[in-house]
Amino acid sequence: MKTEKITLAGDVPGNSIELRVLRFEGKDNEGVSAYLQSSLHGSELPGQAALHFLIPMLERAEKEGRIAGNITVVPQANPIGSAQWQAHQHLGRFDYFSGVNFNRSFPLLASFDTTGLPAIDAPKSLAERLKAQLLRLALPHEIVLDLHCDDESENYLYIHQAFLPEMYDLASALGSTAILSWDSTADAAFEEACAHPALHLSEQERKARAVTTVEFRGLNDVDIETGKHDAEGLYRFLVHRGVIIDDSVKLKVDFNGPVTPLENVEMIRAPQGGMVLFHVDIGAEVEAGANLVTVVTVPGDPSGDITLTAPQAGRILTRRSHRYTRRGDDLLKLLGGKRSENARPGSLEA
Ligand SMILES: [Zn+2]
Repeated sequence: MKTEKITLAGDVPGNSIELRVLRFEGKDNEGVSAYLQSSLHGSELPGQAALHFLIPMLERAEKEGRIAGNITVVPQANPIGSAQWQAHQHLGRFDYFSGVNFNRSFPLLASFDTTGLPAIDAPKSLAERLKAQLLRLALPHEIVLDLHCDDESENYLYIHQAFLPEMYDLASALGSTAILSWDSTADAAFEEACAHPALHLSEQERKARAVTTVEFRGLNDVDIETGKHDAEGLYRFLVHRGVIIDDSVKLKVDFNGPVTPLENVEMIRAPQGGMVLFHVDIGAEVEAGANLVTVVTVPGDPSGDITLTAPQAGRILTRRSHRYTRRGDDLLKLLGGKRSENARPGSLEA
């Protein structure tokens, strides 16, 4: 394993960030290559825990000459967001300087040629240069896994329709319970920037690839057992795709969860601010009209309670982890079987 440290100068004198990049060299020139990164949103750590346990497995495979394709791992993809604290709270989703989500506004390239991206010392903000650098690292690989997590959540994947159903293997390897399928968003996430140039490839070349955002459950699902389990899932997938050679590992592709287009996801939003009391847990199957969540606007006065119900039957995929909401905040995601009447183009969340 080679460790590379890429330094990006800050936007003012005396500041810089360091990106730690781990590289495993494949012994087969034709071997499928893979890129894995975690924590683009700073403190989303389930993916980082998985990589923490995966890296020693990769080192062992390397020692035994079983790495076929190049593997690049960036366990902490966002040193800017990782360092954003305010009043003892970590806030890693949006760049303090611009207010822009660290996983939006990635440049979309027509091909895999990255020479048009801002250089590491371009006259651009640090977050923009970091995004360009992550794309330069990821785009040479056929497999790109961007490891995130939701608030309180099942283990699920975002996958562009062009990579389905071939990527059911990843869902099977990771034990994902659902896939959210998409074809375009208004404000490109890292996943879309990595998928975009592949859309121009022949169908055969494209289907051999895998690009995804992995939502490894919720923010607090970070522990030794889960991390090891997820590392084994990632390893199983890499073996299945031929990146690593390991005859002792077999993957059964048996994913049979829902594959839900983004427009079928019911985003339940708070009509007013207040205390959040959920009626349902993640993973629950609900009927249309079932009580989902009550927002208490006047504590002690039930007449101020607002109870939101399921617009259609479906499965509860995620819940917010906070219990105090503002008007307009997202509260939960429900996977429906038909288009949501509130569907809007673009990403589900800000
Ligand atoms: Zn995230």
